[in-house]
Amino acid sequence: MVEINEVSVNRVLNPTAINLGDYVINPYVGCEFSCLYCYVRSNKVASKRKRPWGTYVDIRKNAPDLLEKEICEKKPKTVLLGSTTECFQPVEKKFQLTKRILEILNNHEVPYIILTRSPYVVEYIPLLNQRFCKRIYFTVNNYSDIFKQAIEPKSPSFVSRNIAIQALLDAGMPVIPYYSPVIPWVTEIKDAFSLFTTAERVDFEYLNFNLKNTQDIIKSISLTDRARGKNISRMFYEKNYYEQTWDTMDEEIERQASRANKRYKRYRHPFDAFFKNTYFD
Ligand code: SF4
Repeated sequence: MVEINEVSVNRVLNPTAINLGDYVINPYVGCEFSCLYCYVRSNKVASKRKRPWGTYVDIRKNAPDLLEKEICEKKPKTVLLGSTTECFQPVEKKFQLTKRILEILNNHEVPYIILTRSPYVVEYIPLLNQRFCKRIYFTVNNYSDIFKQAIEPKSPSFVSRNIAIQALLDAGMPVIPYYSPVIPWVTEIKDAFSLFTTAERVDFEYLNFNLKNTQDIIKSISLTDRARGKNISRMFYEKNYYEQTWDTMDEEIERQASRANKRYKRYRHPFDAFFKNTYFD
């Protein structure tokens, strides 16, 4: 059971180091989808909560009113929506904070970029195609059913996401199908380029082994398939094996992209680097 709290915040436009905008907006705190790999699980704010990640959502109910004022003060160049929450998660149907925020951004002609894995975003196509939505990174992943169940059981099905991406592309929206995290022996990438032929490119972000919850991910995969879990665990401890595995993945993606004549980007985390929030190079 997800606990819903209505809260007030002091500001809604927060400066960011993520190179997709100068400010981020997160209309909610928490997320009903509760993905095991979510990097927000281990951030300072989430760690202080008494309830586990995925069991609460705070509704920042004054966010739209604040946004009107803050746009005039801060004059954002580009805003990133959904860096620490899912803006289009089920609570959005009732509270519609994201909808109001999109209306305000459009009215003030502020460009924005969206991170999502929710097909509900399709409901907002009339708002999104008013010139100010510059890009939508839509996470696909395409794990088989048993791994989806192990890693992101509460998120929307991959089929529904693929349909939503196609609907957005058909509406002329700038969507990047986004595989994140790519997990070796788990992520199915063979259809990555044939599924979305009209997408400008496909992006891949490899699993970040420096996340605090990586061991939970490996444990969950091991319970589903011991041999695959063992291989992934080896990557955690052996640098050579780590590099070789990702080299093989690089080659496979390159081969498929070249066969389909499609562009792509991929982000590979260094073996022992601390987590840096610098995706989307
Ligand atoms: S949908 Fe995004 S914010 Fe929500 S749990 Fe998954 S990764 Fe985290």
